[in-house]
Amino acid sequence: MIKPAGEIILKIDDLKKTFDGLEVLKGISLTVHSGEVICIIGPSGSGKSTLLRCVNLLETPDSHCIFYHGEDILDKSFNVSAYRKKAGMVFQSFNLFPLKTALENVTMGPVTLNKLSKHAAKEEGTQLLNQVGLGDKLDAYPHTLSGGQQQRVAIARALAMHPELLLFDEPTSALDPEMIGEVLNVIRDLARSGMTMLVVTHEMGFAREVSDRIVFMDNGLIVEESDPETFFTAPETDRAREFLSKIIRHGPSEERGGEEL
Ligand code: ADP
Ligand code: MG
Repeated sequence: MIKPAGEIILKIDDLKKTFDGLEVLKGISLTVHSGEVICIIGPSGSGKSTLLRCVNLLETPDSHCIFYHGEDILDKSFNVSAYRKKAGMVFQSFNLFPLKTALENVTMGPVTLNKLSKHAAKEEGTQLLNQVGLGDKLDAYPHTLSGGQQQRVAIARALAMHPELLLFDEPTSALDPEMIGEVLNVIRDLARSGMTMLVVTHEMGFAREVSDRIVFMDNGLIVEESDPETFFTAPETDRAREFLSKIIRHGPSEERGGEEL
């Protein structure tokens, strides 16, 4: 999938993150263009979640190193709440509000943060839940929904904020195998629609199919970065080869995931 490079949305320049003296990210540099789908893969503990959490300012990077449309996201004058609306995140564990219905989960942000009227938010929320195949679950509470359905509500909720960039942190890792496909289909549709996305995943077939670029992380660093065909057919580093062979040989249990290559 070759797309013309859009404008630069996000520039990460030598990102380091230390927790209690432990350097978890050791200098990550990554540029994200509008419309790009970047899949981030790598072993557990390599820093993938920390990278996404720094991008979304759920963690604070050690220095000023992330720029959104050229603006330093750690600058005092940077509007963090506006930024968070533009950079939506979808978590492995869905993180829905348990006492709100599917539709309320989706409309809450637009009504409270974007000051959209309840009526307009409901209309759009209904349309978004239809889009993710949950038009018949508007009034359902999260505990009555399957994991795959809950994750699709979470995606609709992220979309309701009209994000410019979506961050997915292993969106299918908590799901039973039969539900992985329905969530990947929704993400695949978003990729086709031109949404800019950073997707941490262990679904190798999916990563190969939808991504414009694969970023392979190990031990707090980007070890390899290339187009998916190159990465999956001719990885350059021993570390990537080893990771891929483990995933292919042992399947999902090795690093969690589902699809075979
Ligand atoms: P991945 O998502 O690739 O599995 P993480 O980003 O979750 O990796 O974690 C990378 C490393 O950082 C791990 O060793 C983890 O224990 C550590 N880590 C992550 N978050 C914290 C935290 N809040 N405090 C201390 N250590 C953390
Ligand atoms: Mg993680």
